[in-house]
Amino acid sequence: MTATHILDLKKFIRTIPDHPKPGIQFRDVTTLIADPVGLRASVDLLLRPYITAHIDAVVGIEARGFILGGAVAHELGRGFVPIRKKGKLPGKTIGQDYQLEYGTDRVEIHEDAIKKGDRVLLIDDLIATGGTAEAGIELIRRSGGEVVAAAFIVDLPDLGGAERLRKLGVDVHMLVEFEGD
Ligand code: AMP
Repeated sequence: MTATHILDLKKFIRTIPDHPKPGIQFRDVTTLIADPVGLRASVDLLLRPYITAHIDAVVGIEARGFILGGAVAHELGRGFVPIRKKGKLPGKTIGQDYQLEYGTDRVEIHEDAIKKGDRVLLIDDLIATGGTAEAGIELIRRSGGEVVAAAFIVDLPDLGGAERLRKLGVDVHMLVEFEGD
């Protein structure tokens, strides 16, 4: 049996109550990825379903999606493409607004980062409502790419994000779940 079979990833994820605001249980994966076995197990388990899949590019969402997505891309032998918050990417971008509890936010991708027909694996640390990932999926699709799957370490199933992505026709892969929000 390998470390990825016996490691309980949840035990490595720190919960910080009332961050960034009262009532939110922040599931902090920095304690998981700071651990050498935790990081390796997380990356191995995230990419496992896609080892033999046809993937052309791995896309990660700022900021923890960069760490995990970069490692997944490296292991799969593919390139990495960042999706960033608005105004951060230096080249010409396309952007997508998405709804927050109060107001909206915007994520962007370089307009030439995804080639038409590219099969893409999307990575982030956590899915809650799915709004951020849905905006990422829109950007990939508007770039001409096909989203093969979206993979996350943490699912908060009570917030319905994974179901939201499945309704968009995206395969969703998650490693652990926490109740509540
Ligand atoms: P959502 O768009 O609602 O699916 O939120 C997902 C994004 O917000 C991810 O990039 C997460 O890193 C972050 N996020 C949302 N809720 C939490 C939480 N409870 N703990 C840690 N990160 C969160």
